[in-house]
Amino acid sequence: MTSTQIIKYSIDLIAVLLLALGIKGLSKVKSARGANRLAAIAMGLSALGLLVDSYISQGVSTSALIWIAIGTTAGGLLGLITAQRVPMTAMPETVALFNGCGGMSSLLVAIGVALFPVAKSQGDYINSSIETISITVSVFVGAITFTGSMIAMAKLQGWLSTPSWTKSKIRHAINIGLACISLIAIFGTLQGSENALWLLIFGSSLLGVGVTMPIGGADMPVVISLLNSYSGVAAAAAGFVVGSQLLIVAGAMVGAAGLILTKVMCNGMNRSLISVLFGGALSTDSPNTGSTSEGEYTNITACSTEECALTLEAAERVVIVPGYGLAVAQAQHTLREVTRVLEASGIDVTYAIHPVAGRMPGHMNVLLAEADVPYEQLIEMDVINPEFPATDVVLVLGANDVVNPQAKHDQTSPLYGMPVLDVQEARTVFVIKRGMSAGYSGIKNDLFELSNTSMVFGDAKKVLGDLLVELKELGVGKKH
Ligand code: NDP
Repeated sequence: MTSTQIIKYSIDLIAVLLLALGIKGLSKVKSARGANRLAAIAMGLSALGLLVDSYISQGVSTSALIWIAIGTTAGGLLGLITAQRVPMTAMPETVALFNGCGGMSSLLVAIGVALFPVAKSQGDYINSSIETISITVSVFVGAITFTGSMIAMAKLQGWLSTPSWTKSKIRHAINIGLACISLIAIFGTLQGSENALWLLIFGSSLLGVGVTMPIGGADMPVVISLLNSYSGVAAAAAGFVVGSQLLIVAGAMVGAAGLILTKVMCNGMNRSLISVLFGGALSTDSPNTGSTSEGEYTNITACSTEECALTLEAAERVVIVPGYGLAVAQAQHTLREVTRVLEASGIDVTYAIHPVAGRMPGHMNVLLAEADVPYEQLIEMDVINPEFPATDVVLVLGANDVVNPQAKHDQTSPLYGMPVLDVQEARTVFVIKRGMSAGYSGIKNDLFELSNTSMVFGDAKKVLGDLLVELKELGVGKKH
């Protein structure tokens, strides 16, 4: 082993350790920011190690290195600007876009190595059969990840709705056909046929579209998480192709983490992965873009912030249910002021966190952490559900699907089977939202018509601001 290789392997080892520490740190809100930086340093180090090694021991020309540096800088800047500008509510689309970029990179690297053998890695542990298998896996999984992620992003962004053909059984026949084409092409590619490689790119790209297109509604977060896992697998395969140990390790970690998250989310929504991918119980609904279902409601009780404040003043136990609307209104800081006043009055306040509230896993945790809500007050659904009967007041803030009782008792509902927060068990429920618009799944919410539910209409930030004024006027927060 040459001294350059020893330096490269040492850099890779440090980068792998930093990456593992980074991923571990991401599991806690407090350490997440630092962990993200560690992982970024790890990736920077590995890119540097690879460039130095390519230049010194593999004879990559200076002009090629300049091109690589230009590409890396341009991509890095684009990622930086996108990440800084994107609002929290658009994070799932961004994750889908970044997954797609990962899939596309692995695909392009594999195509490049397959078509231009001179660019092949000289890594001493790679032999040609491993390389051929890696190229094939990288192309197959990379293409599915790329096109699937682009479709997921376009659907979440509201640019694409679910076409009618995807609602019939014909979609299974089309997808099976595409899978067969890809399978034949895989055998051809493994034999070294260039035509088969192009057929594989074509078949697997269409397969990514065909599998993702019918999925919508509440199943989308699961699909994004699965595509994230695929991007890891594609990256690991690309790691074998170019002889980068770090890419292999990082790809394997992302692949495994994505799979675990997919399983956790499936459990949270009481769905099997098979039913998400092939069942399509929710798949016929494209994301709701705010259509109102006002006409369907017959028995709604609306109330003022003053009445809400009076009820809160008399409460001993209050549970806050945050949802997507709270993030849209950016009302987390005003909410924190309200809860500080309630707590100062001796009222017990906790936050009920549904696993898919908002638009991405952990969305509500991050939102509330921004407003310095103590992490211990965030209670997971399974723990808080039995406590609702002993709760005086529930404040539902911009949440809808995650508190819809239809999910429990209406077998015809597209939400049926999804675990929800049993807020209707509490003594009084206040739902704060702007009107009677449906949530993400686009369906009516039976909670709004129950006798213990009152609607407080308005933007969440405005309503909470008014509520704060009312509470202070009542002297809440000064009594304890
Ligand atoms: P929902 O999307 O079901 O409902 C949000 C509600 O917020 C709407 O009914 C809307 O009503 C209200 N709202 C919007 N803006 C405001 C505002 N400024 N002030 C007050 N209210 C507002 O949200 P949930 O969090 O309950 O449920 C999440 C849904 O998203 C689930 O169906 C989930 O499966 C899906 N999903 C979740 C993902 C995840 O990973 N967490 C990813 C993708 C989808 P109105 O317009 O009347 O105000």
